[in-house]
Amino acid sequence: MPNGLRVKNYMNNFKKLAVPGVQNLKPYIPGKPIDELERELGIKNSIKLASNENPLGPSPKALTAAQAVLTDIHHYPDGSGHKLVQALAEKHGVDARCITLGNGSNDVLEIIARSFLASCNGAVYSEYAFAVYPIVTQAIGAEHQVAAALPKDHLTMPYGHDLKAMAGKINNATRLVFIANPNNPTGTWLDADELESFIKDVDQNVLVVLDEAYYEYMPDDLQPKTDQWVQKYSNLIVTRTFSKIYGLAGLRIGYAISHPDVADVLNRVRQPFNTSLPAQAAALAALDDLGHIGRSVQMNTVGLNLLADGFKHLGLQFITSIGNFITVDLGRDAAPVYDAMLREGVIVRPLANYNLKQHLRITVGSREQNERCLEALEKVLTGSRPR
Ligand SMILES: *Cc1c(COP(=O)(O)O)cnc(C)c1O
Repeated sequence: MPNGLRVKNYMNNFKKLAVPGVQNLKPYIPGKPIDELERELGIKNSIKLASNENPLGPSPKALTAAQAVLTDIHHYPDGSGHKLVQALAEKHGVDARCITLGNGSNDVLEIIARSFLASCNGAVYSEYAFAVYPIVTQAIGAEHQVAAALPKDHLTMPYGHDLKAMAGKINNATRLVFIANPNNPTGTWLDADELESFIKDVDQNVLVVLDEAYYEYMPDDLQPKTDQWVQKYSNLIVTRTFSKIYGLAGLRIGYAISHPDVADVLNRVRQPFNTSLPAQAAALAALDDLGHIGRSVQMNTVGLNLLADGFKHLGLQFITSIGNFITVDLGRDAAPVYDAMLREGVIVRPLANYNLKQHLRITVGSREQNERCLEALEKVLTGSRPR
């Protein structure tokens, strides 16, 4: 029994009472919060480059909009999120009935899993794909149908999703295919034509979930027109989030775009008030601030190059990324390097839970943060500070 906890008839077998999928669930490991690190080590001025947050923060317009509704938080939010849904429908050129709001896009992913998965069917996803796919699949006790990723020495897209291998994993039991484009934690992406062929060819009874959390960071020529695809392929669900480029991770809001019949299913499973009043208001205002998006993309492009050059200077391999993070191969166990960087006040993300034990994922920060991160990495790897 946990220390100090007094519970009558404590049985200690709640895990055994959990449904089978949940019993073996591996917990999601989030990036370490700054407060926690500073409390543990008694240090100050740490930086966190571990959760792909926007170093510029939210749009000031989003902040103002969120603050303006705080006096009204004794009221439930509009459960349908009418204004935001209308604005998203307009942005994407789709009918409002195509939109499903989520408490972060993770909520949307879970709603999709709960809507379509059961212990008698399964979900296909790639090796190294975003950790939430296995979690939502397993919580339901559905089958994991994991396709090997492209090899680390692949010519064009090392560690990338292998769409042919993924198609090969689809069988009669498959209900969902999860695809992250670009993928986290690898930063790899898919060719738009190949992706569209995959969606076109897949069995109509298999829903393709295309997770585009980092869409806005992709170079224009690599951005597939997926909001238009949704109108051609009724089994496609596209997910987006306000957590990354919009800088609203703490408010928890994301959404799906799909055929209205699919959205109708998702909206039945969705909790009636799953997105909060401030989150809806901030998201609506954030959509309008194109200047903030532009500055965020610009800062990210410069930062990605700075980090990549820094890794080259240190003789380290890295996975080419089009997200707001980059994954570096240390060529040795990354855990002690991660720990030593923590002591330098720099929080990055170890990837052992992805079976990438020699890699660290680093979020692109501000110029100062990127430079500080590279300095800490160099100090830890070489035992001395750079000149
Ligand atoms: C960060 C991320 C999300 C977004 O999660 P939210 O719940 O919207 O904060 C979704 N998918 C991937 C691949 C991500 O990296």
